[in-house]
Amino acid sequence: MSTQSMQHDPASETAGQISPEGVAPACAWDETFDVVVVGGGSAGIAVTASLLRRQPGLKIAVVEPRDTHDYQPAWTLVGGGLFDVDRTRRAMNEVMPKGVTWIRAAVARIEPDENRVRLENGEAVPYRDLVVAAGLRLAWERIEGLEQALGKYGVTSNYRRDLAPYTWELVRSMRSGTALFTQPAMPIKCAGAPQKAMYLSCDHWRRAGALERINVEFNTDGAVLFGVAAFVPSLMKYVHRYRANLAFRSNLVAVDGPGKLAYFDVKDAAGETTRVAKPFEMLHVVPPQVAPDFVRDSQLADAAGWFEVDHATLRHPRYANVFALGDVCSAPNAKTAAAARKQAVIVASNLLAMRSGLPMPSRYDGYGACPLTVERGKVVLAEFGYGGKLLPTFPLDPTKPSKLAWLLKAKLLPWFYWNGMLKAREWLTGKHA
Ligand code: FAD
Repeated sequence: MSTQSMQHDPASETAGQISPEGVAPACAWDETFDVVVVGGGSAGIAVTASLLRRQPGLKIAVVEPRDTHDYQPAWTLVGGGLFDVDRTRRAMNEVMPKGVTWIRAAVARIEPDENRVRLENGEAVPYRDLVVAAGLRLAWERIEGLEQALGKYGVTSNYRRDLAPYTWELVRSMRSGTALFTQPAMPIKCAGAPQKAMYLSCDHWRRAGALERINVEFNTDGAVLFGVAAFVPSLMKYVHRYRANLAFRSNLVAVDGPGKLAYFDVKDAAGETTRVAKPFEMLHVVPPQVAPDFVRDSQLADAAGWFEVDHATLRHPRYANVFALGDVCSAPNAKTAAAARKQAVIVASNLLAMRSGLPMPSRYDGYGACPLTVERGKVVLAEFGYGGKLLPTFPLDPTKPSKLAWLLKAKLLPWFYWNGMLKAREWLTGKHA
C-alpha cells in the first residue's frame, strides 16, 4: 500500500505493520477518522468536497487505489472523434480535496459492526461514519472470448478509456459491411451510452457518404430502446434516419474475434432462447455491470449485490452511520455522474445532520441525466428521476434534440466537472443545507 496524505502521513507511523499471519492488528491506523470515504471517483471526490465545504475541520480519509481520476462521460465523444482522450484524465492528487488523508489502497471488506474497513493488505481503518462510493465493476469476463478480442479484429468499447480512440479509428476507416452495437442487461452506468456510440458512428458514416453501404444493428438485452418512454420517439427518428435495425432481447454472450463472429442469446415472446451467430466488421460492446466483489460479498448488499441504501436519504437501512452514493448504491436511479453530483449534496447534508443528532434534511428524488448524442452538434438531454419522472433543468422541451444541450455536453459539462462538481460548487443541485 502507498499512502499519500494531504495532512500528514500515517504510513510512517503505524500503517504497514503486517503480522506474521499476514493480517494487520485490528487498529493498524492509530486514529479513528470522522469519515472514511471508499472510492475517489466522481461520487467519492464530490461528496468529500461537499463534506469539507460544510465542515472544514472534518478528519476524512479517502481510500482509493488508483493514482488517476477519469471523466468517463467524455469517452463517448472520444469514440466519435469529437473529444481529446487526454482531457479525460487527471492525476488523483490534483482532484483530491485538500486536508484529507488519501489512503492509496483498495478496501477488501467492510466490518460495519466494528466501524472499520479492512484493506487488501490486511490493515484496518477505523471510522465514525462511512461513505461507500466504489463505483461498479465491468464484467468483461462474462462474455466468452471478449477479453482476448478487445482492441483487435474490429472489437471495441467506449467503456474502456484506452479503447475509445480505437472506436473512432474503426468508425473513420469503415466504408462498408456490418457494424453491431450491443447493450447488456440493466442496470449499467449511463444507460444511453450504448446507443450514443451507434448514433455518433452513423452520423459520421452519413456525412462521409458510407452509411448506405453499412448495415447497422443495435442488439439490446432489453425490450425497449430507452427506459423512459418520453424520449423514445425522438430516438426512433434517428434510428430511422440511420436505417439501423433494432434487435430486442438479444444479449451478447460470446465473441470469436479472429472469426469476426458475435454470438447472441435471443429470447422470443414465449421466453424461448436461441443462440444466433452474427458476422461483423465492427463490434461495439458494452459489458455486463455488477457491484464490486467486496460489496456483493458483504452483509451491506441488497439481494442483487448493490450497496443497500434508503432511496431517499441514501443511508444504509441497518447501519445508521453508513451511507452510499454513485454507481455502487442500490437506489434505482440512472447510474450517471449527473446523479452522483446531486447525491453528494444529499449525503453530505444528511451525514452531518445525523452526526449532530439532528433529523436528516435532504431527500433524493432519483435525478440522473443522460445526454444522448444523437448526431454531431445535437443532444437529447434526458433528465429524469425515480419512476421516469422528467426533471428538466432548463425550460426547453427535454424530449427534443437541441444544439444547446450539445454545447452543455461537449463544452460546459467537462469544465464544470473538474471545476465545479469536484470542488463542491453545488450549482443547480437544489440543496444547500
Ligand atoms: P467511478 O467514477 O467509477 O469511481 C469509483 C472509484 O472507486 C474508482 O476510482 C475506483 O478505483 C474506486 N474503487 C473501486 N473499488 C475500490 C475498492 N475496493 N477500494 C477503494 N476504492 C475502490 N454519466 C453522466 O452523467 N453523463 C454521461 O454522459 C455519461 N456517459 C458515460 C459514458 C461512458 C462510456 C461511461 C463509462 C460512463 C458514463 N457516465 C456518464 C457514467 C459516469 O461516469 C458514472 O456514473 C460515474 O463515474 C459514477 O461515479 P462513481 O464515483 O460511482 O464511480
